[in-house]
Amino acid sequence: MSTPFRPVIFRPLPRPLPPFPNETLESYCQRLAHANRIPAERLHTPSRWLAHDDDSVTALLRRLTILTGLSRETFWHALPELRWSHEHGMSPLGRSLPPVVAMRLRRRWACRRCTATRTPGQHVMTWIPIDTHACLQNRLWIGEAVAVTREQVDLAQMPGTLWAQRRHHRLVRRHGERVTAECFRTGGALWKLFAAHHYTLVPDALGQGLAKPRGPYLSWGPQLYAAAYPAAVTMMSLVASPAWRSLLAESMFPSDVERFMKEFTRRLPPNHPAYVTNLPALPSKTGAVIRRVTQILRETKAA
Ligand SMILES: [Zn+2]
Repeated sequence: MSTPFRPVIFRPLPRPLPPFPNETLESYCQRLAHANRIPAERLHTPSRWLAHDDDSVTALLRRLTILTGLSRETFWHALPELRWSHEHGMSPLGRSLPPVVAMRLRRRWACRRCTATRTPGQHVMTWIPIDTHACLQNRLWIGEAVAVTREQVDLAQMPGTLWAQRRHHRLVRRHGERVTAECFRTGGALWKLFAAHHYTLVPDALGQGLAKPRGPYLSWGPQLYAAAYPAAVTMMSLVASPAWRSLLAESMFPSDVERFMKEFTRRLPPNHPAYVTNLPALPSKTGAVIRRVTQILRETKAA
């Protein structure tokens, strides 16, 4: 039996719009629809009485090329979800991502200064690597806690954060994506523990009034994340260092823990010596983090 004929008509839109590099499919469709003053669903189904049921990547690419007049390659390169959908046989409109991809990428608002020149007046959601937190070109914080683009923090007064971003990229090249990501994630949790114990790791930012503690706990907005980022990267570099990792992962002698703590406070000096003694859980928690990273490293090598 042959497939019934289902006519679907797509016409070029009056205002075609190029996709932004690494833009999410949802963001692009919404921007395109908004620029043409039509509901976003109309991009997939042209009218209420002409339904279609082809959600394949090929069909989506064909629709986008007809609607905008842009080439298939333009979308293929700019919209990562099209490639993942193809590689993993998923629906291009599905929101879930393969685990490997989800581990390495995050949805984040694109730097508002980058988009200002290319897509004036529009906000763009993109997929960015998890080791990217700042736009080095435009000196803006685009990482944690940015809910809307106007919250992207200007880093002109925080050169340490820009330096930390470059260092983070170097650490990824040296230790690999997976180990670095784990060090950053678990190191970050450890870091928050210190912050909760008033171990001030952002003295410069606090001194300049860029980040303010609120009550007994710090208020975690984008400014504080940006200000704390250099300390987080320093902590990550310590945990990622094979020498320090093997010391704590294979030996929990008090003398080794003490050596580690000395190195830790040398790299991240507390603003008062008493803070170190206020951290009873530090050696055991740090040891646990390091053993976990070491285990991941072994698994990565074995894979
Ligand atoms: Zn930028």
